[in-house]
Amino acid sequence: MKLHNFNSGPSILPQPVLEAASRAILDFNGTGLSILEIGHRTAWFQEILNEAISSVKTLMQLGDDHEVLFLHGGATTQFMQVPMNLLDENAMAAYCDNGIWGNKAHKEAALFGKVQVVSDTSDRKHSYIQKDFAIPSDASYLHITTNNTVEGTQWHQFPQTAVPLVADMSSDIFCRPMDFNKFALIYAGAQKNMGAAGVNMTVIRKDVLGKVSRKIPAIMDYSKHIAAGSLMNTPPVFAVYVSMLTLRWILNEGGLPEMEKRNRAKADLFYNTLDSLQEVYQPVVAKEDRSWMNAIFFLQKPSLEESFLNLCKQEGMIGVKGYRTVGGVRISMYNALPLESVQTFCDLMRHFASKNG
Ligand SMILES: *Cc1c(COP(=O)(O)O)cnc(C)c1O
Repeated sequence: MKLHNFNSGPSILPQPVLEAASRAILDFNGTGLSILEIGHRTAWFQEILNEAISSVKTLMQLGDDHEVLFLHGGATTQFMQVPMNLLDENAMAAYCDNGIWGNKAHKEAALFGKVQVVSDTSDRKHSYIQKDFAIPSDASYLHITTNNTVEGTQWHQFPQTAVPLVADMSSDIFCRPMDFNKFALIYAGAQKNMGAAGVNMTVIRKDVLGKVSRKIPAIMDYSKHIAAGSLMNTPPVFAVYVSMLTLRWILNEGGLPEMEKRNRAKADLFYNTLDSLQEVYQPVVAKEDRSWMNAIFFLQKPSLEESFLNLCKQEGMIGVKGYRTVGGVRISMYNALPLESVQTFCDLMRHFASKNG
């Protein structure tokens, strides 16, 4: 049976990426060595890293003010690394709490300085993005989560502010073109939309660095990583390689405009289907804030949830159960997910609705 991979992360990767990565495990580019066996200071790895960095710069149209790093530790490490590098003990950072990831991010920041939560959408279970909130001008930065992986919301326009903008883009990185240059810092764990688990990409505008007085351990210090060209210690070589292949795939397919076109088509198809079947399914996210990447909904009759999920399982739909604390259904439609998978899922929704309506 054909499987449809709606996993939220680690998640689906493009087939050509998987093929190239598996070839490289046995023989990296005809060297007779596995990608797992080559040194990180070889010219081979340097080329991989260079291509990954230049692909990011091309896709994001970044100027020379921004540096691209590939670091260990996933997005969760960035929850502490960002404030450690940008938030002085007596200074204040503004955070938007629009879901579990933003919530974790500001709790970590509070270990390093003052935190002001300037937008908290928990009053309606994070089912929307608040747009009209005040941003204190003395904040060291404003932190947002561009896509709320668990709650199914996504920012479709960004706050206008002079305060440096920091964004966790883990679950919607490279899903669409946007003005990346207006962000002071962007980070993303690779395992959702750009590669394999084990590496995190961080893009930093250099002028925000060097402003805190605390001592920073070398491995946590962005400036030292920039000076070392992401090679302060052994980077996750294979994970960087998979990210490089995924970035190459995005560019070959037509870049971010093409990703946007595909993602819009999938999201439109899914949400139109959902909206047309409301006697059985309950959409929960405000229409204008719906995520293209992670769509969530509930069954109008909670007692039907189990049989819906069982049907999904029977039909080869992988990873459609809602987040453990949220319940319901979630499908993730990352760049690599074909439209056909969404079509098949929508057919299943219609079929189930006709039997249970
Ligand atoms: C998955 C996710 C994280 C956590 O990423 P890890 O790599 O597991 O640390 C953080 N933020 C967002 C938005 C996520 O989707």
